[in-house]
Amino acid sequence: EKLESLNASVSRILVFVRLRPMGKKERENGSRCCVKVLNKRDVYLTEFTNENDYLRLKRLRVRHFTFDSSFPETTTQQEVYSTTTGDLVEAVLEGRNGSVFCYGATGAGKTYTMLGTMENPGVMVLAIKDLFAKVRQRSLDGNHVVHLSYLEVYNETVRDLLSPGRPLILREDKQGIVAAGLTQYRAYSTDEVMALLQRGNQNRTTEPTRCNETSSRSHAILQVIVEYKTRDASMNIISRVGKLSLIDLAGSERALATDQRTLRSLEGANINRSLLALSSCINALVEGKKHIPYRNSKLTQLLKDSLGGSCNTVMIANISPSSQSFGETQNTLHWADRAK
Ligand code: ADP
Ligand code: MG
Repeated sequence: EKLESLNASVSRILVFVRLRPMGKKERENGSRCCVKVLNKRDVYLTEFTNENDYLRLKRLRVRHFTFDSSFPETTTQQEVYSTTTGDLVEAVLEGRNGSVFCYGATGAGKTYTMLGTMENPGVMVLAIKDLFAKVRQRSLDGNHVVHLSYLEVYNETVRDLLSPGRPLILREDKQGIVAAGLTQYRAYSTDEVMALLQRGNQNRTTEPTRCNETSSRSHAILQVIVEYKTRDASMNIISRVGKLSLIDLAGSERALATDQRTLRSLEGANINRSLLALSSCINALVEGKKHIPYRNSKLTQLLKDSLGGSCNTVMIANISPSSQSFGETQNTLHWADRAK
């Protein structure tokens, strides 16, 4: 078996922003909208502390950001999927790795974007659906096998969301970092996947005080591995493997408040090490540094082969329109701006 090698081409990080609609509760408690998305690119953030400031327009400070695409609150799940992730699914079939992250404060719409609901499935489900459609189109050229793994990083502990139990140990072997014993679920169709992922999501760590709510400090990673096998003219088996990682990150609110501190000063503090380490890796990649500090956390170790280099990397920054989330929205937009 020989591994087909593909030309490594440098790719940058694509950064998108998705504004969610105002929630019913927010409208009821008098939240105003402080974000506007225009022209599918521009994001305007306005600050006002009370109604008088708002009415006296001269005191209205407006900040402007642009991204590869910005999604207003009316954007459908399908549009978000096609614009952000469609190309990565195509690339995975060609044997290239990629990753898509949802970043943002708790309540900003990360899980809605990634997992979605039964009626409005998100990027994870739409990616698998699209993948199977593309595999069917190509089934005459060779044989594709799709495996899914779904795991959680919580408090620097890695857990299998498809088969909950003891924490998984990360090992380094010839293929890179692997989580020993991780379930690789062989998927044959889209239909089974939504239920599988919903069940997996229910296995995410919950806050001790609110037992049905996923902890804001939990990262969920869906890995879609596509192996392709065919025979060349002289009947040698050719195979290639591509991996797409889709990540619903922990809430960014705590990490942002401490963005300036070093990793070491965060030890022991109740801070999300994996989220900070991811930020460091992304900054190093964006600045074109040679050394990327993947070793600093479990999340970045797991994503080492899917982040940077010839991999496609996509960031979706989720934001709320509510004036009550102004600070978090501002932090998320600044963070996303730096990842470009
Ligand atoms: P997070 O995972 O970032 O904490 P959620 O995805 O759970 O946030 O979203 C918070 C709430 O807002 C949920 O009730 C979710 O259904 C709703 N929501 C988020 N994004 C959208 C959207 N684009 N359209 C409709 N409802 C949304
Ligand atoms: Mg969530």
